[in-house]
Amino acid sequence: MRLVSFGDNGSNAGVVCRDGTIRDVTGLVSDGFGGRPGVLRRIIEEFANLKRKLQDLEAAGGGVRFGSVKLSAPVGDPTKIVAAPVNYIDHMEEMHQLSHIDALGVFLKAPSSLVGHGGIVRLPYSNRRFDQEGELCFVIGSVARNVKVEEADEYIFGYSVLLDITMRGGEDRSTRKSFDTFTPMGPWVVTADEVGSVDDLELRCWVNGELRQNAKISDLIWGVPELLAYVSSVMTLYPGDVVSTGTPKGVGPIGDGDEIVAEVSRVGRLGVSVSSAGATFSVTRGGIADQTQPSDEQSG
Ligand code: MN
Repeated sequence: MRLVSFGDNGSNAGVVCRDGTIRDVTGLVSDGFGGRPGVLRRIIEEFANLKRKLQDLEAAGGGVRFGSVKLSAPVGDPTKIVAAPVNYIDHMEEMHQLSHIDALGVFLKAPSSLVGHGGIVRLPYSNRRFDQEGELCFVIGSVARNVKVEEADEYIFGYSVLLDITMRGGEDRSTRKSFDTFTPMGPWVVTADEVGSVDDLELRCWVNGELRQNAKISDLIWGVPELLAYVSSVMTLYPGDVVSTGTPKGVGPIGDGDEIVAEVSRVGRLGVSVSSAGATFSVTRGGIADQTQPSDEQSG
């Protein structure tokens, strides 16, 4: 099942039907209880009770045309977005890194950086380098704390495609990756039962039609279960929280007018455009002389 958020700041949730239309399912949980947590987060929390109704709507179809609504990130208000810094060997090599996730741990991106499929990545500065990082992410289905690797699947609601947009430089990752619009996600979250094993999934990312990234999810250093086990040993994860698995080789600069597409097989195809309208001079210096070549300080 594929679930989307749309409307003002993800005010509505929908199921993508077999006929390709979207049925609005906001009414299943709203009950006049507006605001936070967002609608899709509440659907995830109550999914066991709502599943049959959602499946009926999915089969019935007859909703609005897919392209007729402006999508938000599938989960607009996760309590956190956790991301893996260096989780593919080939990306470690391209960044001239000597260490990876088993030395670095994970980092946080601000939930306010989320934007949906069809959205615009807004580059804040005119004198800094920004890169695309295509990634597979997963969405938590139930409260997860100290999860065992072999039990990880029980806590995963579903999967989505995420772009971890990154400013290169020496600032902390939480700064460089948390500008508003720096976390495109979508177009939907697809439930884990429809994805099955993630090991044979393939990740691709294009900028202006040029293929930059092409990897197998099985090449992850820490796979999905290991990553969930580790993250949940650090912090409690709640339904709707997003964990992004890291990016493979092929990150590169993005600029005004670029079109980025990231795709994971059996999960989805996420597209956004890039704008530098209103960009100003960077407030921070970045701490390095050369912004154009990846270095130890610049790792994604
Ligand atoms: Mn990343």
